[in-house]
Amino acid sequence: MDKVVRTLIENGEISLTVVQNRDMVQKATVTHFLTDLGLTTLGQVLTAVTYMASSLKDEKGKVSVTIKGDGEGGDICVSGNYDLFIRGAIDNPYVYLPQKANGKEDVEGAIGRKGTITVIRDDGYSQPFVGTCELSTGNVADEFSRYFALSEQLPTAFFLVTKAKEENCVYSGGIMVQPMPGASAESVERVSDLLSSMDVEEKLSATDAETFVKEVFGATEYTVRQPLYRCTCSREYLRDILMSFGEEELRRMIKEDGRICTHCHFCNTDYVFYEDDVNEMFPSEQK
Ligand SMILES: [Zn+2]
Repeated sequence: MDKVVRTLIENGEISLTVVQNRDMVQKATVTHFLTDLGLTTLGQVLTAVTYMASSLKDEKGKVSVTIKGDGEGGDICVSGNYDLFIRGAIDNPYVYLPQKANGKEDVEGAIGRKGTITVIRDDGYSQPFVGTCELSTGNVADEFSRYFALSEQLPTAFFLVTKAKEENCVYSGGIMVQPMPGASAESVERVSDLLSSMDVEEKLSATDAETFVKEVFGATEYTVRQPLYRCTCSREYLRDILMSFGEEELRRMIKEDGRICTHCHFCNTDYVFYEDDVNEMFPSEQK
């Protein structure tokens, strides 16, 4: 089962989140027919956004992240909501690059080093918060850390691990560490020393998220929630979007093609609308 485990460590001075989301990334893999590189890249972004969604305070809250880089994968878009329903897509799901010398997937090559990362966070009430940051290395963890430092003024360390084998996700997860306001330099240093003293990738992928926060950080109180790869689209939602095009435009489309095809790129679902549907949308004109 996928998990988001959140706790406070160092006497409440540091917020620690551990995500394990193999099932989520596997669902994305079969939905989009991702290559090993595609799933490693999208998987890491799904993990980071799962963390951001778990930080939302309001039940109407949602967050979406778009990475527009010059890499081989094209644009990546991932969004999540308060319920931890997470979904995402990559422009080029079939992206392929030779593995790097250390045997890892070339995620930097898929993302690119030039471009932007944009975050839209909607707390359900006021205007959504929009923050944008330039890409620097194409390393997903670095890009999110930079974004948090520059755009949100919240220093946050990301450790993101997604492993692929023969177009299957064998492990995905991450650790996010954020000092609370007023955290002492000593606490921050102790946590960063602890993490740098171990092979985070190895330890994380071999340990359940709850066990990890207990064994590695000695946490006794923590919350556990289950994130899911789930799209929030529906036929009604697409119908509302179509209606905003106006009756004239929709009737023109029906006249041209006999139907209106819409597609949700997050879950690869087609929604097709016919003349009867348009008549229903604009009943006054029904003949
Ligand atoms: Zn969908």
